[in-house]
Amino acid sequence: MASSIPISAVELGPEVERLVLEVLRSGRLAQGPMVERLERAFAAVAGTTEAVAVANGTVALVAALQALGVGPGDEVVTTPFTFVATVNAAISVGARVRLADIRPDDFTLDPDAAAAAIGDASRVVVPVHLYGCPADCAAFDELARRHGLALVEDAAQAHGATFGGRPVGSFGVGCFSLYATKNVTSGEGGVVTTSDARLADRLRLLRNQGMRARYEYEIPGHNYRMTDLQAAIAVPQLERLAESTERRRANAARLTEGLADIEGLVTPSEPPGRRHVFHQYTVRVTGEARADRDALVAALARRGIAAGVYYPRVVCDHDCYRDHPGIVRGDIPNAERAAREVVSLPVHPALRDADLDRIVTAVREVLA
Ligand SMILES: *Cc1c(COP(=O)(O)O)cnc(C)c1O
Repeated sequence: MASSIPISAVELGPEVERLVLEVLRSGRLAQGPMVERLERAFAAVAGTTEAVAVANGTVALVAALQALGVGPGDEVVTTPFTFVATVNAAISVGARVRLADIRPDDFTLDPDAAAAAIGDASRVVVPVHLYGCPADCAAFDELARRHGLALVEDAAQAHGATFGGRPVGSFGVGCFSLYATKNVTSGEGGVVTTSDARLADRLRLLRNQGMRARYEYEIPGHNYRMTDLQAAIAVPQLERLAESTERRRANAARLTEGLADIEGLVTPSEPPGRRHVFHQYTVRVTGEARADRDALVAALARRGIAAGVYYPRVVCDHDCYRDHPGIVRGDIPNAERAAREVVSLPVHPALRDADLDRIVTAVREVLA
């Protein structure tokens, strides 16, 4: 039997080993010069003047909301079709979350649905660049200005994605994750991007117990710091990001070509003017298909192909959020349908053409 194909793979290489060893030998393990190096490289990727590294992507969202002064009594408008961290971050700062529907074509927050969800207490809108596909950044930029809201981008899955040629994370406050499965990883890690120097200053204070000068506290803060060891893992990947993204895009193109014209299978779209970085290659299995989504996942598993379902339910369908006073669920038929129909096929840069062809053959065996 052929070897199995994982949904994600971490390929680090000798440059990461060299840099990690350099940090180990330097004796500077906590936040230090390597974190600064990561921040400079990351600001270049996001097209911002500032990047603030933190412990993980969830904390990036929390710190961004705190730096914007969002708290109890405030509302955050976002999507229910996301990784739960988007919602947890808002709840953990004491805000209320209004969940609005997604667009059926690209799975990102629908700007019109978000506009309809805005109320007097709304302070922030948080589109998620899901699977690496940029949300409609121009529409959210306009929406935020019109309603006097802050724009926070959940770019955890979208390192290097662009909208109209401009990187995500530069439209609003960008929140990235460097978790093990993300397009750039430090094991655990996160980055907040902005070109607002005052906001960046506040983020740096919040990250380090509110401390500016040694043992002088300006605001009550926290410990959100990243270590130099983690930064050393990510720095070489940022240098190779353009290349690894090209591999993801080429893999996606090969899958889309191979999976054309299958009844009930909808391959991912790249809306005009947006550069998708294919954190996930996510197809829809509709009611017209020969097998349903879960049957496809099971059939692929039997053939040694790990497909993933991101996400099998909208966030507010979990018991702990259903009657949560901090969650206001809107009318979300597109999100609910997506949760029933989506499946992500392996697309990561470590795949060979033969792997991609095996994935195509397997899907065709089940559905075509
Ligand atoms: C991964 C992810 C996060 C959280 O990042 P962590 O580093 O795991 O805390 C937030 N939002 C989305 C959409 C994610 O995929």
